[in-house]
Amino acid sequence: MAKMFKNIIAPVQVWLLSQGKCVGCSQPLEKGAKLARQDGTQKITCKCKRVYILDKGGKYRRAGINEA
Ligand SMILES: [Zn+2]
Repeated sequence: MAKMFKNIIAPVQVWLLSQGKCVGCSQPLEKGAKLARQDGTQKITCKCKRVYILDKGGKYRRAGINEA
C-alpha cells in the first residue's frame, strides 16, 4: 500500500507546502525547529517529526532521505 502512494504527491500536500504548512499536521513550518545547513538552506523539523528543507528562494519542500 505505502509503495503505491510513494511517488504520488497529493495536490493538497503541494498546496499546503506552498502555504508554508506541514503536509502532515498543517502547522505553519515557521513554528518548526530550524537548522541552518552548509549550502545556505534551512532544515525545518515539524512538531510531528516531518522534515523539510527551506531553500534559498524561500520555498519549502520535503527533505530527501539523505537530508533528514
Ligand atoms: Zn507537521
